[in-house]
Amino acid sequence: MTLIPGDGIGKEITVAVKRVAQALNTAIVWDEVVAGQEAFDQTGELIPQDVYASLDKNRVALKGPITTPIGHGFRSVNVSLRKHYNLHTNIRPIRVLGQIPALHRDVDIVLFRENTEDLYAGVEEQISPDEAHSIKIITRQATERIVRAAYEYAVANDRHSVAIVTKANIMKLSDGLFLKVAREVAEGYPQIETREVLVDNMAMQLVMKPQQFDVIVTENLYGDILSDLMAGLIGGLGLVPGANIGDDIAIFEAVHGSAPDIAGKEIANPTAILLAFADLLDYISLQDDAKKIREALALVLSDANNFTRDLGGDLSTTAFTDRIISQL
Ligand code: NAD
Repeated sequence: MTLIPGDGIGKEITVAVKRVAQALNTAIVWDEVVAGQEAFDQTGELIPQDVYASLDKNRVALKGPITTPIGHGFRSVNVSLRKHYNLHTNIRPIRVLGQIPALHRDVDIVLFRENTEDLYAGVEEQISPDEAHSIKIITRQATERIVRAAYEYAVANDRHSVAIVTKANIMKLSDGLFLKVAREVAEGYPQIETREVLVDNMAMQLVMKPQQFDVIVTENLYGDILSDLMAGLIGGLGLVPGANIGDDIAIFEAVHGSAPDIAGKEIANPTAILLAFADLLDYISLQDDAKKIREALALVLSDANNFTRDLGGDLSTTAFTDRIISQL
Protein backbone atom coordinates (compact mmCIF):
# COMPACT_ATOMS: atom_id res chain seq x y z
CA MET A 1 0.00 0.00 0.00
CA THR A 2 1.41 3.38 -0.97
CA LEU A 3 1.66 5.83 1.92
CA ILE A 4 2.42 9.49 1.27
CA PRO A 5 2.65 11.01 4.78
CA GLY A 6 2.57 14.58 3.45
CA ASP A 7 3.76 17.54 5.49
CA GLY A 8 2.53 19.82 8.29
CA ILE A 9 0.30 17.63 10.49
CA GLY A 10 0.50 14.89 7.83
CA LYS A 11 3.28 13.01 9.59
CA GLU A 12 1.52 13.09 12.98
CA ILE A 13 -1.82 11.83 11.69
CA THR A 14 -0.37 9.13 9.41
CA VAL A 15 1.55 7.71 12.37
CA ALA A 16 -1.89 7.23 13.97
CA VAL A 17 -3.02 5.25 10.90
CA LYS A 18 0.06 3.06 10.94
CA ARG A 19 -0.46 2.28 14.62
CA VAL A 20 -4.14 1.44 14.08
CA ALA A 21 -3.31 -0.77 11.08
CA GLN A 22 -0.78 -2.62 13.19
CA ALA A 23 -3.19 -3.03 16.09
CA LEU A 24 -5.75 -4.49 13.68
CA ASN A 25 -3.16 -6.95 12.44
CA THR A 26 -3.90 -6.11 8.84
CA ALA A 27 -1.47 -7.61 6.34
CA ILE A 28 -0.79 -4.14 4.97
CA VAL A 29 2.83 -3.38 4.10
CA TRP A 30 3.35 0.36 3.73
CA ASP A 31 5.37 1.57 0.77
CA GLU A 32 6.25 5.02 2.10
CA VAL A 33 7.16 7.73 -0.42
CA VAL A 34 7.65 11.49 -0.14
CA ALA A 35 5.99 14.21 -2.25
CA GLY A 36 5.80 18.02 -1.96
CA GLN A 37 8.34 20.56 -0.73
CA GLU A 38 10.41 17.97 1.18
CA ALA A 39 10.71 15.83 -1.95
CA PHE A 40 11.63 18.91 -3.97
CA ASP A 41 14.39 19.79 -1.53
CA GLN A 42 15.78 16.24 -1.76
CA THR A 43 15.32 15.44 -5.45
CA GLY A 44 14.40 18.65 -7.29
CA GLU A 45 10.97 17.16 -8.05
CA LEU A 46 7.65 17.72 -6.25
CA ILE A 47 6.40 14.29 -7.25
CA PRO A 48 9.55 12.15 -7.70
CA GLN A 49 9.55 9.06 -9.91
CA ASP A 50 9.39 6.68 -6.94
CA VAL A 51 5.98 8.16 -6.01
CA TYR A 52 4.61 7.43 -9.48
CA ALA A 53 6.29 3.99 -9.48
CA SER A 54 4.71 3.11 -6.13
CA LEU A 55 1.24 4.30 -7.20
CA ASP A 56 1.54 2.57 -10.58
CA LYS A 57 2.32 -0.68 -8.81
CA ASN A 58 -0.01 -0.57 -5.79
CA ARG A 59 -3.02 1.24 -7.37
CA VAL A 60 -4.23 2.33 -3.94
CA ALA A 61 -2.80 4.89 -1.54
CA LEU A 62 -3.33 6.76 1.67
CA LYS A 63 -2.11 10.34 1.51
CA GLY A 64 -1.56 12.94 4.19
CA PRO A 65 -2.07 16.63 3.38
CA ILE A 66 0.56 18.45 1.32
CA THR A 67 1.22 22.18 1.57
CA THR A 68 0.72 24.28 -1.57
CA PRO A 69 2.08 27.83 -1.68
CA ILE A 70 -0.82 30.31 -1.86
CA GLY A 71 -1.01 32.72 -4.81
CA HIS A 72 2.40 31.81 -6.22
CA GLY A 73 4.84 28.92 -6.64
CA PHE A 74 4.18 25.34 -7.67
CA ARG A 75 0.92 23.75 -8.66
CA SER A 76 -0.82 21.69 -5.99
CA VAL A 77 0.66 18.19 -5.71
CA ASN A 78 -2.83 16.99 -4.77
CA VAL A 79 -4.40 18.43 -7.91
CA SER A 80 -1.49 17.09 -10.02
CA LEU A 81 -1.96 13.53 -8.72
CA ARG A 82 -5.72 13.71 -9.28
CA LYS A 83 -5.11 14.84 -12.83
CA HIS A 84 -2.28 12.43 -13.63
CA TYR A 85 -4.28 9.38 -12.52
CA ASN A 86 -7.63 10.77 -13.68
CA LEU A 87 -9.08 10.40 -10.17
CA HIS A 88 -12.37 11.74 -11.41
CA THR A 89 -14.67 10.99 -8.49
CA ASN A 90 -14.20 12.71 -5.15
CA ILE A 91 -16.47 11.38 -2.40
CA ARG A 92 -16.73 13.25 0.89
CA PRO A 93 -19.11 11.86 3.54
CA ILE A 94 -20.20 14.35 6.19
CA ARG A 95 -21.61 12.61 9.27
CA VAL A 96 -21.90 13.48 12.94
CA LEU A 97 -19.85 11.13 15.10
CA GLY A 98 -20.41 10.24 18.76
CA GLN A 99 -21.17 13.24 20.96
CA ILE A 100 -19.09 15.78 19.10
CA PRO A 101 -20.26 19.35 19.72
CA ALA A 102 -21.74 19.88 16.25
CA LEU A 103 -23.83 22.83 15.06
CA HIS A 104 -26.31 20.31 13.67
CA ARG A 105 -26.50 16.78 15.07
CA ASP A 106 -28.55 14.89 12.51
CA VAL A 107 -26.40 15.42 9.41
CA ASP A 108 -25.58 12.52 7.09
CA ILE A 109 -24.67 13.84 3.66
CA VAL A 110 -22.45 12.34 0.96
CA LEU A 111 -20.94 14.84 -1.42
CA PHE A 112 -19.86 13.79 -4.93
CA ARG A 113 -17.45 16.32 -6.39
CA GLU A 114 -16.14 16.28 -9.97
CA ASN A 115 -12.39 16.12 -9.45
CA THR A 116 -10.60 16.83 -12.72
CA GLU A 117 -11.96 19.93 -14.43
CA ASP A 118 -13.83 23.21 -13.78
CA LEU A 119 -11.68 26.14 -12.59
CA TYR A 120 -9.24 23.65 -11.02
CA ALA A 121 -8.08 22.42 -14.43
CA GLY A 122 -5.21 24.90 -14.07
CA VAL A 123 -5.84 26.73 -17.35
CA GLU A 124 -4.78 30.21 -16.28
CA GLU A 125 -3.23 33.05 -18.18
CA GLN A 126 -1.62 36.28 -17.08
CA ILE A 127 -2.85 38.77 -19.68
CA SER A 128 -1.01 41.72 -18.17
CA PRO A 129 0.31 42.55 -14.68
CA ASP A 130 -3.21 43.79 -13.92
CA GLU A 131 -5.30 41.13 -15.60
CA ALA A 132 -5.49 37.35 -15.22
CA HIS A 133 -7.87 34.78 -16.72
CA SER A 134 -8.85 31.34 -15.41
CA ILE A 135 -10.76 29.12 -17.79
CA LYS A 136 -13.64 27.04 -16.49
CA ILE A 137 -13.77 23.69 -18.24
CA ILE A 138 -16.89 21.51 -18.13
CA THR A 139 -17.33 18.48 -20.39
CA ARG A 140 -20.24 16.13 -20.99
CA GLN A 141 -18.06 13.09 -20.33
CA ALA A 142 -16.80 14.15 -16.88
CA THR A 143 -20.20 15.49 -15.84
CA GLU A 144 -22.00 12.32 -16.86
CA ARG A 145 -19.46 10.22 -14.94
CA ILE A 146 -19.74 12.12 -11.64
CA VAL A 147 -23.53 12.46 -11.76
CA ARG A 148 -23.96 8.77 -12.57
CA ALA A 149 -21.62 7.89 -9.67
CA ALA A 150 -23.81 9.95 -7.30
CA TYR A 151 -27.05 8.30 -8.44
CA GLU A 152 -25.54 4.81 -8.41
CA TYR A 153 -24.36 5.45 -4.86
CA ALA A 154 -27.84 6.68 -3.89
CA VAL A 155 -29.47 3.52 -5.27
CA ALA A 156 -26.91 1.16 -3.69
CA ASN A 157 -27.13 2.83 -0.28
CA ASP A 158 -30.88 3.41 0.06
CA ARG A 159 -30.57 7.16 -0.25
CA HIS A 160 -33.70 9.02 -1.29
CA SER A 161 -32.53 12.22 -2.96
CA VAL A 162 -29.74 13.74 -5.03
CA ALA A 163 -29.24 17.52 -5.14
CA ILE A 164 -27.52 18.87 -8.26
CA VAL A 165 -25.65 22.07 -7.39
CA THR A 166 -24.62 24.65 -10.01
CA LYS A 167 -24.75 28.35 -10.79
CA ALA A 168 -26.41 27.71 -14.15
CA ASN A 169 -28.50 30.88 -13.94
CA ILE A 170 -25.33 32.96 -14.42
CA MET A 171 -22.80 30.67 -16.15
CA LYS A 172 -25.27 29.50 -18.74
CA LEU A 173 -22.78 27.69 -20.95
CA SER A 174 -20.47 25.87 -18.50
CA ASP A 175 -22.77 25.32 -15.51
CA GLY A 176 -25.64 25.14 -17.99
CA LEU A 177 -23.98 22.12 -19.62
CA PHE A 178 -23.36 20.48 -16.23
CA LEU A 179 -27.04 20.91 -15.31
CA LYS A 180 -28.31 19.75 -18.70
CA VAL A 181 -26.22 16.55 -18.60
CA ALA A 182 -27.11 15.97 -14.93
CA ARG A 183 -30.82 16.20 -15.77
CA GLU A 184 -30.37 13.64 -18.55
CA VAL A 185 -28.63 11.22 -16.18
CA ALA A 186 -31.26 11.83 -13.46
CA GLU A 187 -34.01 10.70 -15.86
CA GLY A 188 -32.59 7.18 -15.60
CA TYR A 189 -33.23 7.12 -11.83
CA PRO A 190 -36.95 7.90 -11.35
CA GLN A 191 -36.92 6.24 -7.91
CA ILE A 192 -34.53 8.92 -6.59
CA GLU A 193 -35.84 12.43 -5.93
CA THR A 194 -33.81 14.99 -7.87
CA ARG A 195 -33.37 18.54 -6.61
CA GLU A 196 -31.67 21.43 -8.38
CA VAL A 197 -30.11 23.99 -6.05
CA LEU A 198 -28.05 27.07 -6.95
CA VAL A 199 -24.75 27.09 -5.08
CA ASP A 200 -25.33 30.36 -3.20
CA ASN A 201 -28.72 29.17 -1.97
CA MET A 202 -27.11 25.80 -1.13
CA ALA A 203 -24.62 27.50 1.20
CA MET A 204 -27.49 29.15 3.09
CA GLN A 205 -29.66 26.01 3.14
CA LEU A 206 -26.77 23.93 4.48
CA VAL A 207 -26.18 26.33 7.36
CA MET A 208 -29.89 26.62 8.24
CA LYS A 209 -31.26 23.14 7.55
CA PRO A 210 -28.68 20.58 6.38
CA GLN A 211 -30.95 17.65 7.34
CA GLN A 212 -32.93 18.14 4.12
CA PHE A 213 -29.96 16.91 2.04
CA ASP A 214 -28.90 13.37 1.36
CA VAL A 215 -26.54 13.04 -1.64
CA ILE A 216 -25.11 16.15 -3.32
CA VAL A 217 -23.39 16.22 -6.71
CA THR A 218 -21.51 19.25 -7.96
CA GLU A 219 -18.56 20.74 -9.81
CA ASN A 220 -14.99 20.84 -8.55
CA LEU A 221 -14.76 24.32 -6.97
CA TYR A 222 -18.27 24.37 -5.45
CA GLY A 223 -17.67 20.89 -4.01
CA ASP A 224 -14.42 21.97 -2.41
CA ILE A 225 -16.01 24.97 -0.73
CA LEU A 226 -19.27 23.31 0.30
CA SER A 227 -17.46 20.34 1.86
CA ASP A 228 -15.47 22.63 4.15
CA LEU A 229 -18.71 24.42 5.03
CA MET A 230 -20.31 21.08 5.86
CA ALA A 231 -17.27 20.04 7.91
CA GLY A 232 -17.93 23.16 9.97
CA LEU A 233 -21.51 21.99 10.57
CA ILE A 234 -20.44 18.70 12.14
CA GLY A 235 -17.51 19.79 14.29
CA GLY A 236 -14.68 20.79 11.98
CA LEU A 237 -12.19 19.75 9.35
CA GLY A 238 -10.58 17.13 11.54
CA LEU A 239 -13.57 14.85 10.94
CA VAL A 240 -14.14 14.59 7.18
CA PRO A 241 -12.44 12.01 4.93
CA GLY A 242 -12.21 12.09 1.16
CA ALA A 243 -11.78 9.40 -1.49
CA ASN A 244 -10.34 10.21 -4.91
CA ILE A 245 -11.42 7.39 -7.18
CA GLY A 246 -10.30 6.66 -10.73
CA ASP A 247 -11.06 3.72 -13.01
CA ASP A 248 -8.66 1.29 -11.32
CA ILE A 249 -6.77 3.42 -8.82
CA ALA A 250 -7.73 5.36 -5.71
CA ILE A 251 -6.12 7.77 -3.27
CA PHE A 252 -7.68 8.22 0.15
CA GLU A 253 -7.00 11.29 2.29
CA ALA A 254 -8.45 13.69 4.83
CA VAL A 255 -10.31 16.69 3.39
CA HIS A 256 -8.27 19.10 5.49
CA GLY A 257 -4.89 20.57 4.63
CA SER A 258 -1.51 20.51 6.35
CA ALA A 259 -2.69 22.86 9.14
CA PRO A 260 0.61 24.77 9.52
CA ASP A 261 -0.83 26.63 12.54
CA ILE A 262 -0.82 23.44 14.64
CA ALA A 263 1.83 21.32 12.88
CA GLY A 264 4.44 19.69 15.11
CA LYS A 265 2.43 20.34 18.29
CA GLU A 266 0.95 16.82 18.52
CA ILE A 267 -2.59 18.20 18.83
CA ALA A 268 -4.03 17.38 15.39
CA ASN A 269 -7.18 15.29 15.30
CA PRO A 270 -6.46 12.08 13.33
CA THR A 271 -10.17 11.18 12.94
CA ALA A 272 -10.48 12.33 9.30
CA ILE A 273 -7.47 10.33 8.12
CA LEU A 274 -8.60 7.29 10.16
CA LEU A 275 -12.01 7.50 8.47
CA ALA A 276 -10.20 7.78 5.12
CA PHE A 277 -8.27 4.66 6.05
CA ALA A 278 -11.56 2.89 6.86
CA ASP A 279 -12.88 3.89 3.41
CA LEU A 280 -9.66 2.52 1.90
CA LEU A 281 -10.14 -0.78 3.76
CA ASP A 282 -13.67 -1.03 2.35
CA TYR A 283 -12.23 -0.39 -1.13
CA ILE A 284 -9.81 -3.31 -0.75
CA SER A 285 -12.57 -5.53 0.69
CA LEU A 286 -11.42 -5.49 4.32
CA GLN A 287 -14.87 -4.39 5.51
CA ASP A 288 -14.55 -5.97 8.96
CA ASP A 289 -11.46 -3.91 9.78
CA ALA A 290 -13.13 -0.77 8.38
CA LYS A 291 -16.14 -1.35 10.62
CA LYS A 292 -13.92 -1.81 13.68
CA ILE A 293 -12.27 1.59 13.08
CA ARG A 294 -15.59 3.39 12.60
CA GLU A 295 -17.10 1.76 15.69
CA ALA A 296 -14.04 2.60 17.80
CA LEU A 297 -14.18 6.22 16.63
CA ALA A 298 -17.90 6.50 17.40
CA LEU A 299 -17.35 5.03 20.87
CA VAL A 300 -14.31 7.12 21.76
CA LEU A 301 -15.92 10.30 20.44
CA SER A 302 -18.99 9.67 22.61
CA ASP A 303 -17.02 10.84 25.64
CA ALA A 304 -15.93 14.47 25.83
CA ASN A 305 -12.91 13.37 27.91
CA ASN A 306 -11.55 11.87 24.70
CA PHE A 307 -11.67 15.01 22.57
CA THR A 308 -8.66 16.59 20.91
CA ARG A 309 -8.23 20.37 21.10
CA ASP A 310 -10.19 21.21 17.93
CA LEU A 311 -13.25 19.64 19.61
CA GLY A 312 -12.73 21.47 22.89
CA GLY A 313 -10.72 18.75 24.66
CA ASP A 314 -7.05 18.43 25.55
CA LEU A 315 -6.01 14.99 24.30
CA SER A 316 -2.86 14.78 22.19
CA THR A 317 -2.84 13.00 18.82
CA THR A 318 -1.00 10.06 20.40
CA ALA A 319 -3.28 9.81 23.46
CA PHE A 320 -6.38 9.93 21.21
CA THR A 321 -4.91 7.17 19.04
CA ASP A 322 -4.20 5.09 22.18
CA ARG A 323 -7.91 5.30 23.09
CA ILE A 324 -8.97 4.26 19.58
CA ILE A 325 -6.60 1.28 19.70
CA SER A 326 -7.95 0.23 23.10
CA GLN A 327 -11.45 -0.01 21.55
CA LEU A 328 -10.54 -2.00 18.40
P1 NAD B 1 -6.22 23.47 6.70
O1 NAD B 1 -7.27 22.45 6.44
O2 NAD B 1 -4.83 22.97 6.73
O3 NAD B 1 -6.54 24.18 8.11
C1 NAD B 1 -7.72 24.95 8.34
C2 NAD B 1 -7.97 25.02 9.85
O4 NAD B 1 -8.45 23.76 10.32
C3 NAD B 1 -6.70 25.34 10.66
O5 NAD B 1 -7.05 26.17 11.73
C4 NAD B 1 -6.27 23.98 11.17
O6 NAD B 1 -5.55 24.02 12.37
C5 NAD B 1 -7.60 23.23 11.33
N1 NAD B 1 -7.43 21.80 11.10
C6 NAD B 1 -7.30 21.18 9.90
N2 NAD B 1 -7.14 19.87 10.07
C7 NAD B 1 -7.17 19.64 11.41
C8 NAD B 1 -7.04 18.46 12.21
N3 NAD B 1 -6.86 17.25 11.66
N4 NAD B 1 -7.09 18.60 13.54
C9 NAD B 1 -7.28 19.81 14.11
N5 NAD B 1 -7.42 20.96 13.40
C10 NAD B 1 -7.35 20.87 12.06
O7 NAD B 1 -6.41 24.61 5.62
P2 NAD B 1 -5.44 25.80 5.17
O8 NAD B 1 -4.78 26.38 6.38
O9 NAD B 1 -6.26 26.62 4.29
O10 NAD B 1 -4.33 25.10 4.26
C11 NAD B 1 -3.02 24.78 4.70
C12 NAD B 1 -2.25 24.13 3.56
O11 NAD B 1 -2.82 22.85 3.25
C13 NAD B 1 -2.24 24.92 2.25
O12 NAD B 1 -0.95 24.85 1.72
C14 NAD B 1 -3.21 24.16 1.37
O13 NAD B 1 -2.89 24.29 0.01
C15 NAD B 1 -2.99 22.75 1.83
N6 NAD B 1 -4.14 21.84 1.57
C16 NAD B 1 -3.83 20.58 1.22
C17 NAD B 1 -4.86 19.66 1.03
C18 NAD B 1 -4.50 18.24 0.65
O14 NAD B 1 -3.34 17.85 0.78
N7 NAD B 1 -5.43 17.46 0.18
C19 NAD B 1 -6.18 20.05 1.21
C20 NAD B 1 -6.46 21.36 1.61
C21 NAD B 1 -5.42 22.26 1.79
